[in-house]
Amino acid sequence: MPSTAIVWLRRDLRLHDHPPLHAALAAHDHVVVAFVLDPAILTGRFASGPRTAFMLDALRELRDAVRERGGVLAIRHGRPEEELPRLAAELGAEAVYWASDATPYAMARDRGVREALAAADPPVGAVPGPGNFVADVGVPRTRGGRPFAVFTPFFRVWGTLDRRAVHRAPQAIPRPPGGITAGTIPSPADLGLADDLVGERAVEPGETAARAALQRWLDGPLPDYADQHDHVAAGSSALSPYLRFGCLSPRELEERAARRGGAGAEAFVRQLAWRDFYAHVLLHHPGDARHEHQERMRQLAWEDDAEGLRAWREGRTGFPLVDAGMRQLRASGWMHNRARLVVGSFLTKDLGIDWREGEAWFMRWLLDGDVASNNGNWQWIASVGVDPAPAFRRILNPTLQQQRHDPDGEYVRRWVPELRGVPDELLAEPWRMSDAQEDAAGCRVGRDYPAPIVDHKEERQRALARYRDVPAAASS
Ligand SMILES: Cc1cc2nc3c(=O)[nH]c(=O)nc-3n(C[C@H](O)[C@H](O)[C@H](O)COP(=O)(O)OP(=O)(O)OC[C@H]3O[C@@H](n4cnc5c(N)ncnc54)[C@H](O)[C@@H]3O)c2cc1C
Repeated sequence: MPSTAIVWLRRDLRLHDHPPLHAALAAHDHVVVAFVLDPAILTGRFASGPRTAFMLDALRELRDAVRERGGVLAIRHGRPEEELPRLAAELGAEAVYWASDATPYAMARDRGVREALAAADPPVGAVPGPGNFVADVGVPRTRGGRPFAVFTPFFRVWGTLDRRAVHRAPQAIPRPPGGITAGTIPSPADLGLADDLVGERAVEPGETAARAALQRWLDGPLPDYADQHDHVAAGSSALSPYLRFGCLSPRELEERAARRGGAGAEAFVRQLAWRDFYAHVLLHHPGDARHEHQERMRQLAWEDDAEGLRAWREGRTGFPLVDAGMRQLRASGWMHNRARLVVGSFLTKDLGIDWREGEAWFMRWLLDGDVASNNGNWQWIASVGVDPAPAFRRILNPTLQQQRHDPDGEYVRRWVPELRGVPDELLAEPWRMSDAQEDAAGCRVGRDYPAPIVDHKEERQRALARYRDVPAAASS
């Protein structure tokens, strides 16, 4: 009797190097690829128009790619623990395969699905497997047997973990005979998201665009990555949205970069390890999704500054690099890592605003918005998370950062057009322009571009006091 399996896609929207798909095809005669539009994610805490639209487009492309291989992508809308047993019953499927994840929501959801499949009549097998990370993020342990809370020793162990083989895309995905309700992929408008999109996406969705971008990256800038990655106008791969939705496999990325060798590839693979690291942290510390990892820091006295928060969100702080980053985010759904650090430091240290405000704003707009990486990085820059360092080491001076990482002003001029005429030497401090210089630049500070909303030096001192004054009694 021929057997049928379901491969449940979640944030692994690809056919290349897809371990659950590979395993299902090896073990069953027929395979149906399925995706469940889950209202808990679409309308939940970190709902995002830009990210949902990106995902829907990636799904559309994937549906065609599956079809070209003779298969079917079944779209369902509802709770996975109800939809998957129902689909299994419709198909007579014996098992559901998926790639494991690390967030608290994913863990709870998958538990629910597993129980619902086991309770079905007849019971349906649940086969979680790898696919979302370079290595198995559940495995690394310190010598004392504990999960890691510091990156460098994690990285050392991570480098020694077993690696699975990288799989090719299947040539055929045989579907079961008989009719299957394929379901429809909604448009952003169908989901009420038409007004909640970014103007010009940083990257095009889908596996085809992802693989072309990867090839360009490997053939082009990769060797310079170690030196250039902090250059905000370029310098990094911009592959993160593809990793977020699994249009690219992180394991394949590691292998193909490592094969090129050299300092650039090494530095790039190290960054992929940060992604695994934050998944490892959240897997073992699900409470971090809501709270500071460092217990003592849960008592930090954050400022209630609605006006400052608004200026930050809109890119109107008067600090050009901060404003460029925030506007890039809103316009394209992406921001360079160095700019993320600078705007993160500015929000939490210069404005003293709770990092969760930044976390939520990033999750609303980032195409690569990822619960584990976003939370981990926000906690890092707010000096409240794992991989701790004294707060003063993570208070970034936005002026110096701009001079160092955007020396020719390419990034700031692109995203803050009112500053285009400001000469290079004043671009990081436009408030220092004389009246004559303002006239020549066609930009009057305070009218065409905001005056700085804070004095960085003073705020630095206030931030140091804020962290110093956290009561030690509650120390973890
Ligand atoms: C406040 C803040 C919030 C962030 N939120 C996210 C997020 O929601 N999603 C996300 O993917 N990254 C996040 N990052 C990490 C990092 O900024 C992005 O991964 C990176 O900018 C993506 O650009 P890229 O693909 O060009 O990176 P590259 O420099 O080309 O790096 C390659 C890949 O390595 C991974 N990576 C690199 N740096 C980090 C890092 N610090 N932490 C985790 N993974 C990393 C990413 O998957 C990235 O695509 C955040 C960083 C900060 C400071």
